[in-house]
Amino acid sequence: MNCLCRFCQKTMSQTLVDLGETPLANSYLSTNHAESMALEKRFPLRVMVCNSCWLAQTTETIPADSIFKQDYAYLSSYSSGWVAHAHRYADEMSKRFDLGPNSKVVEIASNDGYLLQHFVALNIPVLGVEPAGAAAALAERVGVPTRVMFFDETSAITLREEGITADLMVANNVLAHVPNIRSFVAGFKTLMNPNGVATFEFPHIASLMGSVQFDTIYHEHYSYLSLTFLKKLVSEIGMSIFDVEKLPTHGGSLRVFICHPNAHCKSSAVDNILAQEVAIELDKPAGYEGFTAKVNKVTFDFWTFLAKAKAHGKTVAGYGAAAKGNTFLNVAKVGSSDIDFVVDLNIQKQGKLLPGSHIPVISPKKLTELKPDYLVILPWNLADEIIEQQQGIREWGGQFVTAIPELRIR
Ligand SMILES: [Zn+2]
Repeated sequence: MNCLCRFCQKTMSQTLVDLGETPLANSYLSTNHAESMALEKRFPLRVMVCNSCWLAQTTETIPADSIFKQDYAYLSSYSSGWVAHAHRYADEMSKRFDLGPNSKVVEIASNDGYLLQHFVALNIPVLGVEPAGAAAALAERVGVPTRVMFFDETSAITLREEGITADLMVANNVLAHVPNIRSFVAGFKTLMNPNGVATFEFPHIASLMGSVQFDTIYHEHYSYLSLTFLKKLVSEIGMSIFDVEKLPTHGGSLRVFICHPNAHCKSSAVDNILAQEVAIELDKPAGYEGFTAKVNKVTFDFWTFLAKAKAHGKTVAGYGAAAKGNTFLNVAKVGSSDIDFVVDLNIQKQGKLLPGSHIPVISPKKLTELKPDYLVILPWNLADEIIEQQQGIREWGGQFVTAIPELRIR
């Protein structure tokens, strides 16, 4: 199968992994709609790598009218760890780039103001840009002025014409979700002041492949990024990367700093991380080979665990109904006969069924009543936090299970 690269339009022929046909990872189903379950749409979930620009990317662009109308909102402020991460970011950036009452910080996909509120507290003017009206309304309530719009080069020109420019622009975990990544990054160039800085945070493809994080692949997540690719993109639009940091978030992320050419001194970290990517051959087809075999081992080992549990009459439940878990369960072809239920704190997901696997979602309060022998932690990146919180399962001899990067029972 050949497809054209979203970025450079060259023909791609290398498949990183083909995860089969799965439903959209956030399309939770209502239990009383048997019909909607029967009609549940599945789409191919395959990632290919462009051997010209090295952008790894999904091959399907899902039609907007197929994206399930979500009746719950994802709010960043739900995660205390993420809010603390945002607080540290505001403190660090305001000091490093000397931001004050005459500066402006613009965040793209600013959600409910979880990050910009920390700049507001430092008396630094901000503007959020957020396409979801409900999240934007919450941001306004915490004092974060927010424009409800999608961001690209055209909307950046609109803002610029209104006199808006930025000293710091932020895009956390949004780059991978944008189908037209070139127009998106070009919008930053349009809005940034001559000495302005933009930072992008995204999961690093080196971590994805190294730790077999195939469950972070889903349809709405179009791109899987290396610094090698980002350098090409940024230089093509006439900007520079001047620093990069490794972050532990989402299983291993990069924070990349960009500026207008020569506006800031380049850190040695940029060449160091590029050299690390060359060492694992992210600039060659060989660097992307062998991932499918690793994915197959993870799913095989999980199946073996489930079969043993069933043979011994043990019950298995899951913790955390998020996109990640849905990819994992669907790729591993696990259903409600294998995992009885999944618990999740989000009351809007409770009472629903997970897409594809149709496993019911219930409140974590039910754990003490149902006493599962095994609790599979689907968001493995939060395993330590969840194990700490759910120590109660030890009372009936319950054990925790994580499947990625390898099966672990503890
Ligand atoms: Zn390409």
